[in-house]
Amino acid sequence: MGCLICTTSPTVKSHILPRALFHAMKREGQQLVAGRKDGPGYRVLQSGEWDDRLLCAEHEAALGGFDRYGVEFCREAKRQMDSGKRALEIPNPKPRALVGFACACIWRYAASRSGGRPERALGPYAQRLKEVLFEASDFSPLLLVSRHAYEIDAGETMNLAMLPHIYNEEELRFWRFIVCGLIFDLKLDNRPPPPAMATLAVNDLAEIHLFEDFPQKIMRQPALARSLQRMYRPPARTRRGR
Ligand SMILES: [Zn+2]
Repeated sequence: MGCLICTTSPTVKSHILPRALFHAMKREGQQLVAGRKDGPGYRVLQSGEWDDRLLCAEHEAALGGFDRYGVEFCREAKRQMDSGKRALEIPNPKPRALVGFACACIWRYAASRSGGRPERALGPYAQRLKEVLFEASDFSPLLLVSRHAYEIDAGETMNLAMLPHIYNEEELRFWRFIVCGLIFDLKLDNRPPPPAMATLAVNDLAEIHLFEDFPQKIMRQPALARSLQRMYRPPARTRRGR
């Protein structure tokens, strides 16, 4: 099928969330795991999910600037969190690049899961995201950034990443992903966000201040609890070494 932007072949590997973010999340002596698509149990992740049917080398490289900016932003947030800082102050000298990073992750996810037809998941916003990412358009959808407070034990925050998914709050729809302790919410329509979330908007901020939220029990989040319970069952034994 070729590149979704220019139809050129061959296409190259595109990571849905930049690979470097998974490395940033790895902890000494631990592995990153994810649920399986084919049933209960988990699989070990090396570098997150990718798709090699989306973009040619040139258009993959066109997203590199957004990805590097987002990775640097997340690493700095994680560095501050790991140092025990409670109120984070993360420099954001190019706010549009952070919006671009979120758009890139969501566009790649939508393109990958729809077999190369991101409009199936994003509707008319597929075209607008494409213009932001590849044609430097002025469209700047509302981006909210916050810290997640999902705990696995008292005082112990979960090392959680979630691929882009639709998240509803007060009947408003966001595209959300979670990585390195941060929640990115992108709002593609023009409806204002709920008042409690409006303060999280970062589109014009050259420095982003993030405070700790009240701890939340992850098992009280119905969708998350269901997928964690599925992962808790060990994977079926496979034959190895052949
Ligand atoms: Zn291309």
